[in-house]
Order: sequence, then structure tokens, then C-alpha cells
Amino acid sequence: MNVRDSEHMIAELKNKKDYEQTNNIEEADLIMVNTCSVRDKPVQKLFSEIGHFNKIKKKDAKIGVCGCSATHLGKDIIKRAPFVDFVLGARNISKISNIIDRKGAVEIDIDHDDSSYMFDDYRSNPYKAFINIMIGCDKSCAYCIVPFTRGDEISIPLDIIINEAKKVVREGVKEICLLGQNVNNYGKKLDKHINFTYLLQKLSEIDGLKRIRFTSPHPLHMDDEFIEEFAKNPIICSSIHMPLQSGSTSLLKSMRRGYSKKWFLDKAFKIRDLAKDVSITTDVIVGFPGESDEDFADTLDVIDKIRFEQIFNFKYSKRPLTPAIDYDNQIDDKISSQRLTRVIEKHKTYNFDILKDKIGSDYETLFDAIKPDGYISGKSDNNFTVITKGDASLLGEIKTVHIKDRRKNSLIGNMLF
Ligand code: SF4
Repeated sequence: MNVRDSEHMIAELKNKKDYEQTNNIEEADLIMVNTCSVRDKPVQKLFSEIGHFNKIKKKDAKIGVCGCSATHLGKDIIKRAPFVDFVLGARNISKISNIIDRKGAVEIDIDHDDSSYMFDDYRSNPYKAFINIMIGCDKSCAYCIVPFTRGDEISIPLDIIINEAKKVVREGVKEICLLGQNVNNYGKKLDKHINFTYLLQKLSEIDGLKRIRFTSPHPLHMDDEFIEEFAKNPIICSSIHMPLQSGSTSLLKSMRRGYSKKWFLDKAFKIRDLAKDVSITTDVIVGFPGESDEDFADTLDVIDKIRFEQIFNFKYSKRPLTPAIDYDNQIDDKISSQRLTRVIEKHKTYNFDILKDKIGSDYETLFDAIKPDGYISGKSDNNFTVITKGDASLLGEIKTVHIKDRRKNSLIGNMLF
């Protein structure tokens, strides 16, 4: 989401205010820091970063703080760091070209509706395009600050999404990635017949579009219609993110996630059954208030059963405004760290086999990066990094690669056709 928000800001500033990007911060006229606030650490880092930028910046260069931390800290950012010129919340990105000239301005309205705003065009990858399909989130997970920084959920109108997808395909994009906090809840407040599955079907009809990815779906909204479309539609990549958070039903309840361990396992097994060679990734939070040894064992049990291709692990981080910050059964940091290590170690034990099992497979790969020594890399349909011999002429092409070997986190092969 933040990558796409940054692309929107760049587009607006290039086309409406005549700015160009620079790699040299010391020559910049404007420095923007786009922030996350999901965990506390990046928020702490924000102030050391902007302090550093203030020291090295050109005289009169402006500094702006944007994104989720901008929303939740608001004018306190300028109080604590008076050299900051403006603060722009995650849901107010369309105001960028207006705010940069208003010293001390703070725009953090979480009811602001950018869902039909036509941002100018800029994309950092010519072959893959992020497309927002919704903004905000209507859930109230007990640990999560996002609803307080990105506001209520609004689906972007279907025709806007379809037109944007057609436009990027005309410009040479092969793969789109649909973005939203709960993508498979798409359309909830639109016409009755419009839902995420319908959107996927409509997008699949676009001539020249080779691949569709999306992030993140919510396990709660993984109904049979969606899973069956995901499994059978050849344009939809065989890779899905299923944020588990915890394997314990009682902890999931206290997290307000809305599903149980059994629900999650049923959905994941169904996806593994129906979708060929699918890759399932997940998020895990350890040390959520009240997490007992038994709760944590449930999380390890789900990991054992599903063997996720990738796990994004986090220690629970206390966030302001969220209910869990007031729970009185907070977990000792030492225990959280031990549990985090155990999740990482567990994944390591089978990750080697997951990659080894791919040897001998043929994967269609979309190349988008040059590697040293005459190699190129790209992603397979099921989202593994694939490396093979090749040069820049292959960037943006989809070719079949026969997998011969694996490295720590990638697959190596020979190009077939
Ligand atoms: S679904 Fe839950 S975790 Fe995801 S953004 Fe919404 S509140 Fe946060």
C-alpha cells in the first residue's frame, strides 16, 4: 500500500508541480518520508530519520511526513520536530500538490474519500502494476491501528479499476497486483452482484493481461466461490497470502479476527487441494496478550499442517488507540522473543524441502531484474524467485524455465522457451 501511495505522490508532484526525483538527498528541494505505523519500531525510527535529513538537506529544502504515522501522530510531529513543513495522512494523498506550499499544514482526515480520485500516472516497474481496489478497513482487530489511520472501508468503483487495468496493459504491463486491506471483501457497499470474485472474472477478460495477484485477502471472506475461481482461473497466479496471526481459537477471539483454527485450516486445505502447486504465505504474531504455551502450540501446529511457503513473523507491538494495549495480560518480551525464534526455526526446517521439491518443475517466469554475471531473475506464477542465464532483452518477457537447483531463497534453472 505504501509503495503505491508513494507512486501516487510522485505522479502528482511530477505532473502537477514539475518536480523530478533525485537519488541525491543533498540536492533535493523536497524530502518526503512515507511512514508505516503497524508496529512501534518504524515510528521510533521516523524521528531519527527526519532529524538526519534535516541535518544534511539543502537550505530551504522542505520535509514532509506522510502515511499512517502521519495520521496518528498528526501535529505532534511538528511539535516534536518543528523543522517538518507538513504532515499528510495516509488517506489524504490526493492533497499532496496542494499541501507542499503550506508551511505547518496538517491534513489527516480519515473520512476523506480518495476512492474516485484520478491520480496522475507513475509506476516504478514497467511490467508489474499495483492497482488499488479499496481504501480503509472496517474490521477491528484488537492489535491493529490501521482502521484509525486509513479509515473506513470503501471499494473503488469497478469501472475505474477495469479502465486502469486496461490502460496499464496497453502500456506493456503483464501482471497486476490488486491492493486493499481485505481485498476479498471488495464490493460490500457497491451493487449486489459486484464482489471480489466478479472483479477477478472481469479483469481476466482483458486482452493482453497475463497475470493477476492480490494482497491481502482475509481468511474470513474466503468463501467457496472465491476459492474455486482462484484455483481454476489461469490468469490468477497460484499464490495467496492467508494472514493467520494465531493458531489458537481463543486467542483469535481475543484478537477479534472472526475465524477459528478449524475455519483457517479448512480454507487452507481446500486451497491446497484445488489449486495446483499453490504457494501459501502468512503472517504470525507471537506474544499477543494472554498467549499461553498451549495457544502458541496451536500456532506451531497450524504451521506444521500447512507448511507455509513464507511466514512474516512479528512480536506483538502495543499500538495506541487499539483495545489490546489495555489488556492486562501482556506477555514478557523475553518469552515473545523465544517464541519468535521458534517460529523462524520451524519454518527453516521445512523451507529447504519446499525449494528442493521444485527441482524438475517447469515454471513460467516473468523476468524483471538483471543479476550479476549474465543472469536475470523473475517470479514464477506461484511467486518463487527464479534465476536463469539471460540479458536485458528478456525483461518483461514470460518464459518457461526448467528448475535444476535451488539456493537459500530462490530457484535456478535453464530457459526452455
Ligand atoms: S483486517 Fe484487521 S489486521 Fe487487517 S487492516 Fe483491518 S484491522 Fe488491521
